Order: sequence, then C-alpha cells, then structure tokens
Amino acid sequence: MLDELYREIILDHYRNPRNRGELADADTKVRGNNPICGDEVTLYLKIADGKIDAARSTGNGCSISQASTSMMTQAIVGRSLDDALALIGEVEGMMRGGGVPEGPDLDDLAALEGVRKFPSRVKCALLPWETLKQSIQEYRGT
Ligand code: ZN
Repeated sequence: MLDELYREIILDHYRNPRNRGELADADTKVRGNNPICGDEVTLYLKIADGKIDAARSTGNGCSISQASTSMMTQAIVGRSLDDALALIGEVEGMMRGGGVPEGPDLDDLAALEGVRKFPSRVKCALLPWETLKQSIQEYRGT
C-alpha cells in the first residue's frame, strides 16, 4: 500500500517536474551524469547571502533520477548552503538505510526511501544530490 503511494509520488514528479528549465542568471551551472543508467541532470542555482534563492534543472533519464531532481529543487529553495549540505547527508543516509529526512517541503522525499531496495537505482536517486554538492563546492571555490 505504502509502496503504491510512493510510486505515485515519484511518477507525479517525473511527469510534472517542478522547477524545470534553465536559469538565465544562475550563479552555478553544473552537469552531472550517471553513465550506468544514462541519466543526466544540469542544475542551475541562484545563490545570495549564503542562501539558495532559486533552483532549476534540465536533463533526462529514468523516472527515479528525474523525480529525485524535481523533489530536490523543491526542497532546497530558501535553504542556506550549510542546510542544503546537511540535507544531502540525510538523503545519502536514507539510501544507506537511515531515517527519512523530515521538515518543511521534505514530505515527498520519503518516496525515495523504497529505492534503496534496488541498489542499482540508488545512483539514479542520488545523482541530483551529488550534482548539488558539486555546485555548492564550486560556488565556494573548494
Ligand atoms: Zn536512472
């Protein structure tokens, strides 16, 4: 029953991706890919005062990678870069068997929990989050 609900949430994000498209005045533009599955994500961020003001993405790939990207852009807008890094850690933890991230705008992320039962798909789910980590590192020049 729960799995069916999760599936619906993932398909909804896949079919109606949030924050889709390029961001003309982006502060970072980073492309990530997962060659095992053929997933591609380009993440655009607008950052001001250490906070993510806007996030948009383009790309293509399987439903897991694209739904995860959509959920992520929804979850990170308004967060500080440190908060975003903490959230990346929580999502990685969830994929390794840890708890589900909790907080405002994070409800949909729980739908990704079921992906950890399929180790080959974990990379798909984590692709946008790794791209986000790279974006923050690039922005900070580290
Ligand atoms: Zn994939």
